[in-house]
Amino acid sequence: MSDNAEIRFEGIGVSPGIAFAGIYVVRDDLDEVARYHIAPSRIADEIGRFEAGLIQTRMQILEMQERIAESIGAKDAAIFDAHLLVVEDRTLIDEVLRKLKTDLCNVEWAFQEVATRYAETLSKIDDPYLRERALDIQDVTKRVIRNLQGKAPKAFLSLSGPHILVAHNLTPSDTASMSRENVLGIATDLGSRTSHAAILARSLTIPAVLGLHDITAKVDTGQHLLLDGNDGLLIVNPAPQTLACYRELESRRAKVTAQLKELRETTSTTRDGCHIVLSANIELPEDVDAVAANGAEGIGLYRTEFLYLNRKTLPAEEEQYETYRSVAEQVRPNPLIIRTFDLGGDKLAEGVADVTDELNPFLGWRAIRFCLENQDIFKTQLRAILRASAVGNIKVMFPMISGLDELRRAIAVLEECKQQLRNSRAEVAERVEVGAMIEIPSAAICASALAREVDFFSIGTNDLIQYALAVDRVNEKIAYLYEPTHPAILRLLKMVADAAHASRIWVGVCGEMAGDVALVPLLLGLGMDELSAAATLVPRVKRAVQSVAIPECRELVEDALKLNTASEILGRCLQLADNRYGDLLG
Ligand code: PEP
Ligand code: MG
Repeated sequence: MSDNAEIRFEGIGVSPGIAFAGIYVVRDDLDEVARYHIAPSRIADEIGRFEAGLIQTRMQILEMQERIAESIGAKDAAIFDAHLLVVEDRTLIDEVLRKLKTDLCNVEWAFQEVATRYAETLSKIDDPYLRERALDIQDVTKRVIRNLQGKAPKAFLSLSGPHILVAHNLTPSDTASMSRENVLGIATDLGSRTSHAAILARSLTIPAVLGLHDITAKVDTGQHLLLDGNDGLLIVNPAPQTLACYRELESRRAKVTAQLKELRETTSTTRDGCHIVLSANIELPEDVDAVAANGAEGIGLYRTEFLYLNRKTLPAEEEQYETYRSVAEQVRPNPLIIRTFDLGGDKLAEGVADVTDELNPFLGWRAIRFCLENQDIFKTQLRAILRASAVGNIKVMFPMISGLDELRRAIAVLEECKQQLRNSRAEVAERVEVGAMIEIPSAAICASALAREVDFFSIGTNDLIQYALAVDRVNEKIAYLYEPTHPAILRLLKMVADAAHASRIWVGVCGEMAGDVALVPLLLGLGMDELSAAATLVPRVKRAVQSVAIPECRELVEDALKLNTASEILGRCLQLADNRYGDLLG
């Protein structure tokens, strides 16, 4: 096979669109050390940073050693003695300082250069002890660099020229910081449809294929790649016929997109005249332009924790107030539903509070649990939201509610903030609707009790599915088990919708399921009053809503409830979708 033969890889298409460009592979943390010039006047600062980084690393190693000594034994803990020797190695440290001064470069770069050279030299010597030391140096180097990188920019975030980024994994903050001009597409070993990196890629309209297992080991920087985010396909060195085929496909898709654009000013009303509120999800304030541009009626989910992801601390009350006020003003009179911080899980909060590594972060100290214990953070956000409610149509909702006690505690804090603001004569809307996100099975099962104490429900199917089916939403190895049409999910959704309507409150879906056109009729048949999806998906969802009538959607649900597998239910959904708007499915 020639070096230029076309090779195909299949993954999970999580953000639609086609990209064709050269590859940039983010191989390892160490590849990501950017070199930048420093002025001679900053040398002392760099040395200070280096010293602090070494002390931090030393403390981490000592802590680790202590933990291992307690849990496994002193003998195993002694292996870290060699790691400690590296951070105390005077020759290495002096050489880094010399390099820093002569090359006028940032300290992580100087450290990486020197440490890598040391490790390489040692690994070539025919002595098992010295070879081991080379591994110690590599290990400690990564740790020191990670500590130093608290502030340093990652190299791939400052790429010059357009590329397709291939990485083992991307954090939501990596994805949020990418430039749309230079990152034309994203492909990763890990991840799945509902990981936050995927959600952000969709918001940024960057085509993405995740869950490719070991793609970083199979491609190289510089190769040409065609990435198809619709079908979850990577084609390395695409042949001229493949490129021609894709050009043809693109022009057909462009026609459908142009038709969808015409729907912008139309309402999302079913064929038999039932209005379904169609809103957009946003992560960053900049996303707000896309809301009206795609014909959404407001914002059904504002993931406010993304305000924090690219910084070390949360914004203060005034800054949050300005942000919420400006977003609310831009969408009014339509609603802006603000979800309080959902930190934790794959959205880390180590800069915000003292969170230690958790074995099960998705089941851990996150979202409302975190906020109820960090009331200063929670109250600051609630005050900012309440003050902004004086200017726009703001509703507030709490993430990860697991039961009535927790909901009542959250509402009590909200009421306390409202009272304080009114006492200090700050303006707050007469009435601010309060909602609970239903994304934990216990909340779905106890939905009747919760419905009596809130104004609305918003179902977070991304989490509801992961918890109900015990399938980690970001683990590509079990992505095939993540089935939105599982009979258990159908029943949970029905319980929530029925409980809401029995208490005369409205219910919406803001998880990714709401943006899947194949499943829209199922959600309508279940009685959902609102659907909130990524802005770019809104026109497709609107077409789906306008193409069906409620009785046929109810019939679909009745049939689905008689079926026992996810694939049968999906098949039944696709049948109706294909009959009504088959062109959107391809
Ligand atoms: C969800 O869980 O469905 C949801 C909308 O919230 P997030 O994806 O941010 O967890
Ligand atoms: Mg969630």
